[in-house]
Amino acid sequence: MRIIETIKELRQWVADTRAAGSTIGLVPTMGFLHEGHMKLVSTAKDENDAIVMSIFVNPAQFGPDEDFDRYPRNMARDTQLAKDAGVDVIFAPSVEEMYPRQSAITISAGRLAEQLCGKSRPGHFDGVLKVVTKLFHLVQPDKAYFGQKDAQQLAIIESLADDFNFPLQIRRVGTVREEDGLAKSSRNVYLTEQERKEAPHLKKALELGKQAALAKQDPVAVMTDYLRDHTSGKIDYIQFLSYPDLTEKVEGDAILALAVQFEKARLIDNLLFTVKGN
Ligand code: AMP
Repeated sequence: MRIIETIKELRQWVADTRAAGSTIGLVPTMGFLHEGHMKLVSTAKDENDAIVMSIFVNPAQFGPDEDFDRYPRNMARDTQLAKDAGVDVIFAPSVEEMYPRQSAITISAGRLAEQLCGKSRPGHFDGVLKVVTKLFHLVQPDKAYFGQKDAQQLAIIESLADDFNFPLQIRRVGTVREEDGLAKSSRNVYLTEQERKEAPHLKKALELGKQAALAKQDPVAVMTDYLRDHTSGKIDYIQFLSYPDLTEKVEGDAILALAVQFEKARLIDNLLFTVKGN
């Protein structure tokens, strides 16, 4: 496995790999790898000849009061995990390598960022689009892999690829969970012992909400009551929307999503399911 830190070296590897006729799968991450990331890699391995994993804590997607500086990092451990999983290249550029100057051009997620996390994290998805656009151009993957855990991000990236004709396929990968239902996340390390005990109730709240939604009842009310009774976290949002277009008129494919702010960790989770018409 190679660790590449410069765009020049990456471009050379991409040119050589494509010239050899190999297909490339891209798995973008911010590192501090867990089994969710590894499922993206194993899915990518099944579908491509060569795998590039990017590890880049992207400052453009963090707000000024967010956790960029203290975001967990462990390059040595990540390197070992990626190597064991059969990743061919880790692309781990510095911030200066990715963003050598302030760009005048911005990419906006627009309407799709007006719901869910986009509301509480202004500019977050524009920052995601900035880095993902660069990665798509640099790696030129045939397929790029994203987790359903970050379902709004996935919807926005699908829209980017479709609207702007990126010559690649976006692949969705289901959420990997702990045995008790908590969605795996690099940010779970921020939870206190007590909060970690409460965190599986997020998935339970979603299951209750899903039952309510399928019975044509309001999932938000049920989930709000449940979360207030079972967690000490503050509810940031609970929303039931169509998916992936994220409108409030829910028909067919839907997303039920929540964000809960604990003392140091803001956790998100969601379920995607289909609502049948009346
Ligand atoms: P991150 O490093 O948190 O930016 O995540 C990198 C990629 O891994 C994103 O596409 C995430 O959606 C995906 N991911 C994160 N957690 C999980 C999980 N528990 N299950 C599946 N995919 C995940």
